[in-house]
Amino acid sequence: MVSIVLVGHSPELLRGLRAMIAQSSGQVPVAIAGGTSIGNLGTSSPSIRSALKAALAAATGDGVVVLLDLGSAFLALEMALEELSPAERALVRVSPGPLVEGAVLAAIEASSGAHVDQVAAAADAAASSRKLPEGWTETGLPSGGEVARAWLRLAAARIAANRVRLGDLDAAIGDGDHGINLHRGFAAVVAGLDAGALPESAPGPFLVAVGRTLTGTVGGASGALYGRAFMRAGARLAGGGRLEATAAASALAEAVAAIAALGRARPGEKTMLDALVPAADAFRAAVDGGAGLARAAELAADAAEAGARATIPLLATKGRASYLGERSIGHEDPGAASSALLLRALADALASG
Ligand code: ADP
Ligand code: MG
Repeated sequence: MVSIVLVGHSPELLRGLRAMIAQSSGQVPVAIAGGTSIGNLGTSSPSIRSALKAALAAATGDGVVVLLDLGSAFLALEMALEELSPAERALVRVSPGPLVEGAVLAAIEASSGAHVDQVAAAADAAASSRKLPEGWTETGLPSGGEVARAWLRLAAARIAANRVRLGDLDAAIGDGDHGINLHRGFAAVVAGLDAGALPESAPGPFLVAVGRTLTGTVGGASGALYGRAFMRAGARLAGGGRLEATAAASALAEAVAAIAALGRARPGEKTMLDALVPAADAFRAAVDGGAGLARAAELAADAAEAGARATIPLLATKGRASYLGERSIGHEDPGAASSALLLRALADALASG
């Protein structure tokens, strides 16, 4: 079987890589030559020579493929190669491939019993095999679609974990279905994501699809209101690429305006708007002040949580809770509570993204 020689400046790096290779191709012999003889970072031709010798012995005539971490290792390698016999030299291939991917792919090829030239070709080809995952931009940052998906998954988990609390809040001043309603809707969104049934690469179309799903599954006042809000926010966001903070601020403002219009409500009436309006304002103010997406979302979540708590002493004048009149006072509005959960999920998704 073809052996692999890893040449690098750091022995730790090479040992770690050897352990990675052992996971996928444990039977392939791997010799490493890293660091200098006095223990510094660097390469030394005597240690490369002994690694080559060991690898040639292990390969029993099948050949050796060498990979290097940095170009400056070529000089030490050249000196080590000069000390091999012509017969040994003829069995060695030096690959320009990237160290990690090249070594892993070469080992997989070697473990199948491939010829030394094929193993070297696998290592060489590794240079072109790396691409950014779909939905990622060249900056290495997740695209807007990625952010939106992470948000909705986290939001669904938070709604699921809080469905009893939301139900209890709604039971106090409504009919007790808010937690169950939202859980049903967000679970449907996650199911759509898992099935690959939602347009997910760009945030706009994705949020529109989320809004449609919520409208079709949540029911109640909140189904119509949140559904409309997501559809409006999605319609506002243009195509792919990164989600810009200013665009996100406008989308949030538009979503909140859509809820106010559909519900014919404004802040102070003990509804979700008491969380959402201060949140959208805080988001916009943060962005105008130069904050990035994650910071703006954090401040918006703070404002939403404060707004939700501030609904406790309010008298409900919209929705089912308004039927209770004065008795609605003293309870947190369930819709404001769920809005705060959604915004905190957005902030947390952005903070870890
Ligand atoms: P339902 O009241 O139909 O049972 P949910 O329990 O799912 O629906 O949602 C109740 C929440 O919806 C309320 O706590 C409130 O925040 C919000 N809501 C209800 N009516 C309105 C309205 N007209 N405008 C804004 N928000 C409203
Ligand atoms: Mg209800």
